[in-house]
Amino acid sequence: MTSPHSPSLTPADIARIALKRLAELGLPPTPENYTKFYNAIAAIKSPMDKSDEELKSAYQVLFRVSDVLEGMSDTSEELLADLNRGEAVMTHSLDAIKSGLDRPRLEAVLNELIASTDTVCQTVSASHRDLQQLKEAMDKIQSDLAINRKTLEQDPLTGALNRQGMEHLLAKEVKRARRAAHALTVGILDLDEFKQVNDKHGHLVGDKVLVHFASILKAVLRESDTLVRYGGEEFLLLLPETNLDGARFLVDRLRQVNARTPFFHHASHIDIRFSTGIAQLKDEENGHAMLIRADEAMYRAKNSGRDQVVMAD
Ligand code: GH3
Ligand code: MG
Ligand code: MG
Repeated sequence: MTSPHSPSLTPADIARIALKRLAELGLPPTPENYTKFYNAIAAIKSPMDKSDEELKSAYQVLFRVSDVLEGMSDTSEELLADLNRGEAVMTHSLDAIKSGLDRPRLEAVLNELIASTDTVCQTVSASHRDLQQLKEAMDKIQSDLAINRKTLEQDPLTGALNRQGMEHLLAKEVKRARRAAHALTVGILDLDEFKQVNDKHGHLVGDKVLVHFASILKAVLRESDTLVRYGGEEFLLLLPETNLDGARFLVDRLRQVNARTPFFHHASHIDIRFSTGIAQLKDEENGHAMLIRADEAMYRAKNSGRDQVVMAD
């Protein structure tokens, strides 16, 4: 089964990529090899799980929205009922005036009208206060929702967008690129031999290297570009209004900055190298097809000796 968040990547897609990678790496497609690759790809292609806390806070906000909406509907129902009562009194009074009245009766009708108008005025101003309070509650919920959404879509380690956030953004950027006839390009970067960093220095140092590398990426990207933590030691760059040449230029710059900004651990530096696949959105393909091509190009870079950039066809 595919994850509900990645509907366009079917088991058949994953199987195809797994087999392709086995072939590229010259590994025999034994059940063990196949299962290992299938699971690795499937795990990377589904969004990272969110903690119970984060989900709970998202639900709390939703419940508050529901409460506020209920409050709004009650307030407006009361207002409507009062206005209806006021209208009935006025119609009745006007009918009485039209049918001709002596002075005492006219005075009585006018008093009734003034009293009814007063009541309506009071209800309107009470409703106005209530609605004002509800609006404030809504504003607060709106800002909480924005914060919530940000946490739900952010990778806690590097601050980059997570896969879930990328799903939203990718759909939007593909639409925008089509509408404005702009280029849209992605780069998928996978750190080379990263397991060795963990094995040699420990997982915590590995985490610090990932944070360090993400900060270099952020420094090189433009405001309109997006950094995504695509998998454990895999990053995705979403580059609107950028073609293949622009993306290659960016990755070359990234290599230079990365080479000039080593990560130090106990006075010795840890070399970070990475393999990159780049693909530009084609007219006839969707965003996911572009990602698959970039992913395949990245694996070609791995197979050609790592530490290099490969453009998808
Ligand atoms: P390759 O050049 O083929 O990509 O080699 P690799 O060692 O980078 O790739 P492999 O897929 O064999 O191993 C990925 C490693 O990345 C193993 C895993 O422990 C590490 N990794 C993934 N996510 C994290 C993380 O969040 N923190 C740390 N410290 N390590 C991570
Ligand atoms: Mg990897
Ligand atoms: Mg790697």
